[in-house]
Amino acid sequence: MEIQDKILALREELTQHNYNYYVLDNPTISDFEFDLKLKELKRLEDENPIFFDVNSPTQRVGGMVTKNFPTITHEFRMYSLDNSYSIEDLQDWEKRIEKTLGEKVEFVCELKYDGASISILYENGELTQAVTRGDGTQGDEITNNIRTIQSVPLKLKGNYPERFYMRGEITIPLNKFASINEERANNGLELYANPRNTASGSLKLQDNTEVAKRGLQCFPYYFIGNNLPYSTQWEMLQAADELGFKIPHTSKLCTSLEEVLAFVDHWDIERKNLPYETDGIVIKVNSFSQQDELGYTAKSPRWAMAYKFKAEAAETELLSIDYQVGRTGAITPVANLAPVSLAGTIVKRASVHNEDIIKKLDIRIGDMVYVEKGGEIIPKIVGVNTDVRKPGTEEIEFIKNCPSCGTELIRNDGEAQHYCPNENGCEPQIIGKLEHFVSRKAMDIEGLGGGTIEILYSNNKISNISDFYSLNKNEIIGLEKWIDNDYAGLKYKNQLQVDLVKAVFALSKKWGNLTIKDSEFITKNVKSLNELLNIETENNKITKFISELKNSLTNIDYQNYYSLENYVSLNLLLDIKFPNILNQNSDLFSNKIYDIDTIKYIDELLVWNNKNNKDFEQFIISIADRNRIGIKEKSAEIILNSIENSKNVNYERVLFALGIKLVGETVAKKIVKKFNSIEQLIDSSIEELESIDEIGNKIALSIKNYFSNENNLNIVHKLKNYGLKFELDNSSIPISSILENKTFLFTGSLTKFNRTDAQKMVEDHGGKNISAVSKNLNYLVVGENAGSKLKKAEEIGTVIVLTEDEFLNLIN
Ligand code: AMP
Ligand code: ZN
Repeated sequence: MEIQDKILALREELTQHNYNYYVLDNPTISDFEFDLKLKELKRLEDENPIFFDVNSPTQRVGGMVTKNFPTITHEFRMYSLDNSYSIEDLQDWEKRIEKTLGEKVEFVCELKYDGASISILYENGELTQAVTRGDGTQGDEITNNIRTIQSVPLKLKGNYPERFYMRGEITIPLNKFASINEERANNGLELYANPRNTASGSLKLQDNTEVAKRGLQCFPYYFIGNNLPYSTQWEMLQAADELGFKIPHTSKLCTSLEEVLAFVDHWDIERKNLPYETDGIVIKVNSFSQQDELGYTAKSPRWAMAYKFKAEAAETELLSIDYQVGRTGAITPVANLAPVSLAGTIVKRASVHNEDIIKKLDIRIGDMVYVEKGGEIIPKIVGVNTDVRKPGTEEIEFIKNCPSCGTELIRNDGEAQHYCPNENGCEPQIIGKLEHFVSRKAMDIEGLGGGTIEILYSNNKISNISDFYSLNKNEIIGLEKWIDNDYAGLKYKNQLQVDLVKAVFALSKKWGNLTIKDSEFITKNVKSLNELLNIETENNKITKFISELKNSLTNIDYQNYYSLENYVSLNLLLDIKFPNILNQNSDLFSNKIYDIDTIKYIDELLVWNNKNNKDFEQFIISIADRNRIGIKEKSAEIILNSIENSKNVNYERVLFALGIKLVGETVAKKIVKKFNSIEQLIDSSIEELESIDEIGNKIALSIKNYFSNENNLNIVHKLKNYGLKFELDNSSIPISSILENKTFLFTGSLTKFNRTDAQKMVEDHGGKNISAVSKNLNYLVVGENAGSKLKKAEEIGTVIVLTEDEFLNLIN
């Protein structure tokens, strides 16, 4: 085949795979094969620059830097939308347009995707330009960045108009938003406020390789151009689908306003399950001739209307402020609120970020504050209802000393956060560092999640990261601890089972002192409190426990269930009090359990009696949020094996694992490239550190600061003696990561290379060698006279068989 034909064929094939994956959600080849083909195309293109094409699939990965985005005047203006907030607004709008037109209209309802709008020009089926909305008249040209968005077609399929602009919204998926912020937090960077700003911020990044990593999406909602062949909005949306755009299949053609209202109602709830943010509905007149007749106001089309969902906000009392201490000593104020129902959950805490924000909002203890839930996990306080402010309230004074260890806090110039400087003596910092050390991206030690570190710490088995390596199995088996559940940032768990486990563990302490085994036996065998009370067993401890429990239950009273609901779920309370109510009303209780209306309804449904048993209530309150956990033999083995294995973790990850403030994964990588060993790093000067690209004065100071501390030097020294890697191990630096996560096996007599070299080549490119044919094998490389292994691989069917040449091709 001619080179050019080969290039064209590969482009076409890859474009189709891309479409299958990102638009249809239905990939037909593995990511790995895709990467190989892409690499092959890249190679051919690099070798034959005359065939370069900006719209080749190879351009999606980035590699272009735009320093200044040119300003472009929109050929067709980008209008805003009129907003409506109520059904009456919509009814008025319908009346208005039907009066102007003198006829009935059909509507298309679409979701209002919350991101950044974009106008993309297609000429002869090729993407040629992409411009942001800007002020509607002029925007910034960001074509290179838009090319990296996988669901934006670079070349159109089917029967496309010769020249038109696709108008659409660029959004960031919620999980991407969360992981970007997680990474930023890890690297000590300020968090992004919400998905919308993150999407528009991403579009303005200079390096489009970074844009490519953001996983942005594009949702088309309009085509505009001269003489387009469509006569309705609905027809145009279907056409967009055929041209290769990713159309969310949420839009609807409605023949009456009633249908529109049903659509609004449906999505007001359903949108919470979408993987991206929406802030309303856009309703458009379907017919383009009617649209033309209606025309535009100065700001917006008369033929379209946005219906804004009510912001997910609630008003509640600010009870107090807690101060949390992070692993780097950063202090985060968290507001405790009177429980309030917001977007389907009960909110009791909200983040307030830092002192400046507290000042800016001027929140005071006892104020009625507004809380909102955006794309963030923890809701935030957005304002104060000063009309109802109580007299005598005072401005909040930010704490001066660490809430955990009492050390005086510091706040560096130009930073918003306070820090506790007592790095090695402040409990939350110590535990935070231990947790960071074992985390997946650091030393990746298994079995130490969910409170196990606290067990080891509170039993004096570990106090700093070097202590992991002196643990032995017998001393950790059987260690136990009660831990408090931290609800901040956690999804509220309201399954009865979870509560039951907690309650049984907790109560067992008071009555009969059950072992963990006993508690497990109970919670495994019962699904409700009713079953628990009737459990059959020969075990005396359990029998005693049950009879005590029965005794107490007859006395319970939940007059004040609002406050109690704070501590145990309503499900559990109801099940204790009225064992059958959950069964009888399962619909009602299935997911809306915290809805305030539901609670009111229950209130009417039930006759709450007035007897008091404060004791028991207090008791439930004090225990319900606690878990007892312990280390069993099996987990002890896992932990110790995994600790041993972690000695193979490479230097850059060890450096990251130390938890030096501001030294995230990326910074660690850059440091290791320049200073090949920890000694070199310890001896380096601020100037040398700052000469590394992207390392500024703050990071450099933080590194110097870390290594000027005797304690830290001591820990590093110990870790080194335990055999951790503190220098760049040249043989282990992969040449590429193209074989990452792939497994290889060589069989038959090899003629192009020997087995050892071949295995090294696999490792050099990030792959792994395994010794037997199994489902876990990705590639079998066969030399001459391959025998049983080849046969077995063929039987399994998923193993890809390569010749020696094909293998070499793959890594070249
Ligand atoms: P606003 O910014 O509130 O004036 O709303 C107008 C913006 O909504 C437009 O510029 C679009 O970026 C955005 N939008 C989101 N979804 C849609 C949609 N389905 N149809 C039209 N505009 C939309
Ligand atoms: Zn402290």
